[in-house]
Amino acid sequence: MDNVTIEKLKKLVRNVPDFPAKGVQFKDLTTLLKNGEALNVVADALVELYRGKGVTKVVGIESRGFIAGAILASRLGAGFVPARKPGKLPAKTIARTYEKEYGTDTIEIHEDAIGPDDVVVIHDDLLATGGTMHAAYELVKSLHPAKVYINFICGLSFLDGRKELPADVEVKTLFDF
Ligand code: AMP
Repeated sequence: MDNVTIEKLKKLVRNVPDFPAKGVQFKDLTTLLKNGEALNVVADALVELYRGKGVTKVVGIESRGFIAGAILASRLGAGFVPARKPGKLPAKTIARTYEKEYGTDTIEIHEDAIGPDDVVVIHDDLLATGGTMHAAYELVKSLHPAKVYINFICGLSFLDGRKELPADVEVKTLFDF
């Protein structure tokens, strides 16, 4: 994407101060997603990143990672795998619990969702501290896929969430704040 396009997309993201807690600058992507032209630009740009890499599964993190994650999977001709909050998936799952600013959180995937032949993109809408994606990465890795990529629509560079994620994994965002 060229810089003009990136700036256009960034302008469509609504900043909501003090949500969900005081001091947080929440990046609301719904204002970008509701714009049909922008949604298509995002979809095209995501596909461009992974075309030709043999991706077989896109793992989307509940719930905002389901939106563009499912679009990316469909456009690549790959399958979609939801990583969900505890107790939501009906069959046998594996889980990972991780530290949040206050307390802990857990995510789960079906244990048969990924196999050794899979090339996986794990997708979420936004990279903040990286804690959620790190847990998702560990979960996916425990199923021994052939290759794992990590992807976000956008990142908050001042939080440096990249350092939470393994240095040898390719991590891509479309744009950063
Ligand atoms: P983290 O584990 O800190 O990287 O947080 C990642 C998850 O929290 C992502 O799924 C984001 O959707 C959400 N999130 C965290 N901080 C923000 C923020 N400032 N604006 C929008 N979403 C956020």
